[in-house]
Amino acid sequence: GSVFGHLARAPEDPILGVTVAYNKDPSPVKLNLGVGAYRTEEGKPLVLNVVRRAEQTLVNDSSRVKEYLPIVGLADFNKLSAKLIFGADSGINIVKQQVIESSNVFSSRNHVICCRDASYCLILCSPAIQENRVTTVQCLSGTGSLRVGAEFLAKHYHQRTIYIPMPTWGNHPKVFTLAGLSVKTYRYYDPATRGLNFQGLNLSCFLHLHGLLEDLGSAPSGAIVLLHACAHNPTGVDPTLGQWAQIRQLMRSKGLLPFFDSAYQGFASGNLDEDAQSVRMFVADGGECLVAQSYAKNMGLYGERVGALSSVCKTADVASRVESQLKLVIRPMYSNPPIHGASIVATILKDRNMFHYWTIELKAMADRIISMRQQLFDALRSRGTPGDWSHIIKQIGMFTFTGLNSEQVTFMTKEYHIYMTSDGRISMAGLSSRTIPHLADAIHAAVT
Ligand code: PMP
Repeated sequence: GSVFGHLARAPEDPILGVTVAYNKDPSPVKLNLGVGAYRTEEGKPLVLNVVRRAEQTLVNDSSRVKEYLPIVGLADFNKLSAKLIFGADSGINIVKQQVIESSNVFSSRNHVICCRDASYCLILCSPAIQENRVTTVQCLSGTGSLRVGAEFLAKHYHQRTIYIPMPTWGNHPKVFTLAGLSVKTYRYYDPATRGLNFQGLNLSCFLHLHGLLEDLGSAPSGAIVLLHACAHNPTGVDPTLGQWAQIRQLMRSKGLLPFFDSAYQGFASGNLDEDAQSVRMFVADGGECLVAQSYAKNMGLYGERVGALSSVCKTADVASRVESQLKLVIRPMYSNPPIHGASIVATILKDRNMFHYWTIELKAMADRIISMRQQLFDALRSRGTPGDWSHIIKQIGMFTFTGLNSEQVTFMTKEYHIYMTSDGRISMAGLSSRTIPHLADAIHAAVT
């Protein structure tokens, strides 16, 4: 018998398994809304023109070789990735309108954050990059960046507990647990309002506040908190800037360590700076944080596995010691990262014209997703489908958290050949004007 004869068959991955089931379905009308990958209006995967151009540039450059990269990856890629997420000069960063509201100004050594609400916010950043307080290492896309960051924290950080939102991307708890962290959750989504469970009133205990703020408020001092930088997966619900300001204030006052997962920069609003506001708010106050970046969605580089882990530290000296320890995490894991995808990204980020062209293609992807939201909403309204579907147009990013339960999802898969995760999450990027009527018919039939 085999030495592995005792093995039980493991279940398919809950997200990637949706595609496995979809591939087995012979129906001509089948629709895969499970995995979060962008599709064109024709339902085809998209390689950005700017990526093709960058690849051409790389191919034509005969001086390029296939030597190993350093353990931390491509230097240009790392520097430019930090600039992309933390801001061009991380000098002065003006978000929306400049309104100074004396009632809500936080300041310290070299920054001011002034927020009244989502529409008025002025951030003067602390120049973390210029002060060499940021260390960035190239990793294997978002997942690899999260894993390297988590392994580093498990080894060197005094608090081994990480709080993740409830719900969150299904891979988060596994990545953090296997890295050696202990995973706890904080309340995030409120199914009743289909919005953020920020500090809702608990009616059974009048005046007692609960939700996200209470859960982070009662986390042990120093605990790590995983925050989705924008376009929260799977709910599509993000805090407003005003709520981010409150989260920041609470976390800093308790010494909680922010670990940002930035998998959708530019994909949510169509604007790279706007989607980085949450992260920049935490960097502007001079405090420390970790950020995992992915270029899978915003450059369409899914299979190239390009990402970065940045650590913003109090001093340049600490940052360089952090980097030295990150190398000890990476070396025995995969030695050093692959060269091709990071070279594409660096080529685009360092060329003014290519960068500009990228922002246009990125905005076009974001706009198509936003238009799919409107079309699905309109299609349900025109069918008179019972229920309030306004969350479809309110939610942000690649996914809609429909509110459909697992029985309804099973029904839609069986009767309409529509594939999605059992929590009712659908990828808006997988839809087109052609397929929306079929989806709307299926949702209508599932809820009536
Ligand atoms: N974090 C979140 C929230 C995600 O949705 C994803 C992609 N589904 C990732 C991280 C990582 O993706 P990748 O490893 O492909 O960059």
